[in-house]
Amino acid sequence: GKVLVTGANGYIAMHVVDQLLKGGYSVRGTVRSESKIKYIQDYFKSYGDKLELVVVPDITKEGAFDNYVSDVDAIEHTASPFTMQIDDPNEVIAPAVAGTTSVLQSAVLHGKNVKRIVVTSSTGAVLEVDTGKTTFTEDDWNDQAIRIVEEKGSAADAPSKYRASKTLAERAAWKVAELHKDSFELTTICPPFVYGPPIHEINGGSEGLNQSLKDWFNIVLKGTKDSDKEFLAKVGSSWVDVRDVAKAHVLALKTVDAGGQRIIVSTGAWKWQDWINIARTFASEVAAGAADTYKPDEAVHDFLYNTEKAKRIFELDSSILISRETSVQDMLSKFKERNLQW
Ligand code: NDP
Repeated sequence: GKVLVTGANGYIAMHVVDQLLKGGYSVRGTVRSESKIKYIQDYFKSYGDKLELVVVPDITKEGAFDNYVSDVDAIEHTASPFTMQIDDPNEVIAPAVAGTTSVLQSAVLHGKNVKRIVVTSSTGAVLEVDTGKTTFTEDDWNDQAIRIVEEKGSAADAPSKYRASKTLAERAAWKVAELHKDSFELTTICPPFVYGPPIHEINGGSEGLNQSLKDWFNIVLKGTKDSDKEFLAKVGSSWVDVRDVAKAHVLALKTVDAGGQRIIVSTGAWKWQDWINIARTFASEVAAGAADTYKPDEAVHDFLYNTEKAKRIFELDSSILISRETSVQDMLSKFKERNLQW
């Protein structure tokens, strides 16, 4: 089969493309500009013409994907802004929502072979903060972020702006899917923070990393919060390795039961100090942070996810999912290989 992957140059998307090609699929990847193509082509050159890359300059334009869906069997829609530098919330909401509806509409109108569409959502579209609830399931929707953005506009906090973009985009996807049940089945994948080795193009050193890895790099390796032990011991979330996220994206295409499902893919909870402790076993120069006072067993986690659905449908349980130790080891090797210094 042939799969369209939007935003193919991204951190997660490069792993999705990698696993699709390894799995024997042909891939058409979209990027926003010509300059993004060469790195991807070079990275996957052993696959020859199994990979094609095309430029879609503005994914929000109606019909933007019309020319690229007629010969594909499935779509992985990953392109969406993940940034914390946001002024007007519409800077992220507009591309997230309109990008999602435009690719789904193109599939409905011109993708006669498209039977399955996978949208990369986020636990940002699931969780709500400071409500007393700490364990979330696929039945939970983050309407709180939308309310915050409606009330505060540009003055809202950046995470709320980003999370609102993900909730609104995923809702928009389910709406199109509901209207066009005969045309295709939708699966949405909701990962928490994604870490693990970057294989995508990185410009400008570690500051050019994607949002989740940039924060990890700065806090864990550069020790930018080293003076704030309270932060390192108390602040955290849940995570999943990028290769497991990519695996879920591929399984979502070929698993019958994944059709029509929203699926959380999460490995477990962490505090920043957990990552520091693990990183120090591989790189002793990493600053100790709160290592002397932090008690992992006593950590209280605010964002936990029920992962029964991913276990049932994808068989992704803790015996399969990549561990924190492996993820850190592979991430550090990749950072070194790519000359990202801390
Ligand atoms: P990246 O920043 O590496 O990738 C984002 C991709 O989306 C890039 O291809 C980027 O293109 C594209 N993109 C961003 N803004 C726009 C826009 N306005 N118009 C068109 N394309 C755009 O991040 P990730 O790989 O982490 O993110 C991929 C997906 O995964 C996103 O949907 C994100 O919300 C989701 N996600 C990520 C998590 C994480 O921790 N990393 C956690 C949960 C979900 P360009 O390079 O040209 O800007």
